Amino acid sequence: MGAVGEKPRLIDESGRRIDGRRPDELRPIEMEVGVLKNADGSALVKFGDTWVLAAVYGPREAVPKHMTLPERAVIRCRYRMLSFSTHERKSPAPSRREVELSKVIREALEPAVLTELYPRTTIDIFIEVLNAHGGTRTAGVTAASLALADAGIPMRDLVAGVAVGKVDGVIVLDINEIEDMYGEADMPVAAMPGLGRITLLQLNGVLSPNEFRTGLKMAMEGIRRIYEMQKKVLRQKYAVIEEE
Ligand code: ADP
Repeated sequence: MGAVGEKPRLIDESGRRIDGRRPDELRPIEMEVGVLKNADGSALVKFGDTWVLAAVYGPREAVPKHMTLPERAVIRCRYRMLSFSTHERKSPAPSRREVELSKVIREALEPAVLTELYPRTTIDIFIEVLNAHGGTRTAGVTAASLALADAGIPMRDLVAGVAVGKVDGVIVLDINEIEDMYGEADMPVAAMPGLGRITLLQLNGVLSPNEFRTGLKMAMEGIRRIYEMQKKVLRQKYAVIEEE
């Protein structure tokens, strides 16, 4: 999104951000899996005021059949922002941004899924942004990865994501909408921390090589924390089922 209105001060005298966080602090994160009864897997993830719901169906027989592949499952992904998820009503018609983000998110998840185990099938991932306040693509990747695991789909590793940015010259973790709008740069990153593999890296704005390195390191540390939360929430759910 482009900047609108007068730019607010993003870092105060004590080095705190507009929402009171320190530069390397994540927003309060909540995660829940298995929230939808009719999907094979689902997850609700909240990064502060960014709320994202993910649902997964499959692996299932594909319609139309010509869209399948003989050697692996095809992953389809649809990212959408609900009309009430933004300040001004978002048109329900799919925007170019939503089409692009659907592709970016699919590509961030594909390396994690053992698609070769399910030839001639499709795995459908639906991501609905319930409330948008910055970092919806990385919250979307985090939620979809949990939903895939909740659907029992074998994965090499979980994928977690977070966006870092540069605001008033400071590199900060997990940028919110105001920081995204008025900051100098934003860089969404997603990775499979267990395998040390980055699956999404975009950069909007300008960073020096040093800032880039600092930002990437900060993102990877944030991703590691998010990944631990993902594992915990999955463990909690499946430990309860085992007990039952
Ligand atoms: P991301 O959500 O992954 O950070 P962007 O950088 O494109 O992706 O968007 C930043 C933020 O701007 C979003 O999280 C959302 O809060 C806001 N935003 C994006 N698109 C719209 C839109 N069409 N209407 C209102 N707000 C939007």
